[in-house]
Amino acid sequence: SGGAIPKGPVVCSTVCGNPYAGLVSHLRAAWLSGKTRPLEYRLAQLEALGRFLEEKKQDILEATALDMGKPSFEAYFTEILLCKNELNNTLNNLSHWMKDEHVDKNLVTQLDSAFIRKDPYGVVLIIAPWNYPIHLFLVPLIGAIAAGNCVVVKPSEIAKNTERLVAEVLTCYLDSDCFAVVTAGVQETTRLLENKFDYIFFTGSPSVGRIVMTAAAKHLTPVTLELGGKNPCYVSDTCDVQNVARRVAWGRFFNAGQTCIAPDYILCSVEMQDKLMPALREAITEYFGPNPQESPDFARIVGDKQFRRVRALLCSGRVAIGGQTDEKERYIAPTVLVDVQPSDPAMQEEIYGPILLIITVANVEEAIDFINSREQPLVVYVFSSDNKVVNQVLEKTSSGSFCSNDTLMQVTLTSLPFGGIGSSGLGKYHGKFTFDTFTHRRGCLQRGTGLEPINTLRYPPYGPHKTGL
Ligand code: NAD
Repeated sequence: SGGAIPKGPVVCSTVCGNPYAGLVSHLRAAWLSGKTRPLEYRLAQLEALGRFLEEKKQDILEATALDMGKPSFEAYFTEILLCKNELNNTLNNLSHWMKDEHVDKNLVTQLDSAFIRKDPYGVVLIIAPWNYPIHLFLVPLIGAIAAGNCVVVKPSEIAKNTERLVAEVLTCYLDSDCFAVVTAGVQETTRLLENKFDYIFFTGSPSVGRIVMTAAAKHLTPVTLELGGKNPCYVSDTCDVQNVARRVAWGRFFNAGQTCIAPDYILCSVEMQDKLMPALREAITEYFGPNPQESPDFARIVGDKQFRRVRALLCSGRVAIGGQTDEKERYIAPTVLVDVQPSDPAMQEEIYGPILLIITVANVEEAIDFINSREQPLVVYVFSSDNKVVNQVLEKTSSGSFCSNDTLMQVTLTSLPFGGIGSSGLGKYHGKFTFDTFTHRRGCLQRGTGLEPINTLRYPPYGPHKTGL
């Protein structure tokens, strides 16, 4: 039914003196007013997000190009098109998703109504990383709005130009009583997290994920953590080598490797490593020309700190392709490192840059053991023309998601849940899963007031005539 924010004392939580307490109280009052609950309100805010994407398309492409030289095709595909897909899917299905779900009843509740009400959580916080700086706050925001919540969005401060754009224009499209953008570095985000939120949706590194979960635990706030890790890619001996090289190189070098679901390392036989090398070289040249530094289709590393971290990983194994760097431009060439050992620095952390590692294994069993001896990744990839091998890897490993004979494409389906497991994350989203993430499924039993004589059966005094004992 909507309405104004209720007047009266604004509740100051345990964080009086906290710079964000006022903002959170304001949003909480707006939420309590019931304004965000009606379907029409949610649809209007979602349609406004659609206008933001359409009208600010050019600004988004420019900001992400300034931040990390993101090629316009890649920016358009991931920051705009995939977000529009999510938006349209939500707009088309929201009224259905919101409906009460009626459930089975027992004998004594036959005349009553038992259902699951799709309640919003309340005031939610979305914290996003820099690599897909629009997509990674916008997709959760679509679900949070669809589910009827008030939202604080905290974009990444590392993607400076995109952060500025979001801070300046996003709230012009949305109801500022209910939706806010906070620009914050680490210190400010720490203060922001002292406030009580009703749900926190975090995307970023596993180490910061732990910090966020610890802060959330103080208020018993539920969380979704979309984290990272090292995604293995097993390439069996039975496959089309050119095909594998093209699909792996695309997924690895998209956004200069700064993609949480990119294949991080290949596991294959020594023979396959030898065959893959010319095919990978060919694919890289085909995509980026003889000098990738001159290609408009190859991105840069987002910042100096990140550049130095990725460059330091080049000492692992042996450079078979690429390896060139240019600090001024934060350029690292599409690189393939071969004969990498599990103990090498590049195998100790997520690469998050344009470096593909190859580790040799004897067979699929050894690859499976290798994968299972490490943290559960966000994705397991497998390439094989033999379905038995594909299914063997699927059945004997564990990961957030799985894709065979391609890379990244699983993300284009709003019908698939997206999320990690173990150290790669907690919770899932995309499509209806995002709506469900931001929705509390409230179990409701609405009983009539009649038929009281039947109830005397469960009231004391009990006595043997009621229990039969
Ligand atoms: P990050 O963890 O450094 O930062 C993410 C967000 O957390 C940023 O908004 C940042 O301001 C904030 N933050 C940083 N330190 C903080 C602290 N101490 N306290 C509170 N907040 C803090 O991650 P990043 O460098 O922006 O992104 C890279 C990581 O994100 C990689 O590990 C990658 O795999 C992961 N990632 C995961 C997904 C996914 O969907 N699972 C998607 C993209 C990126």
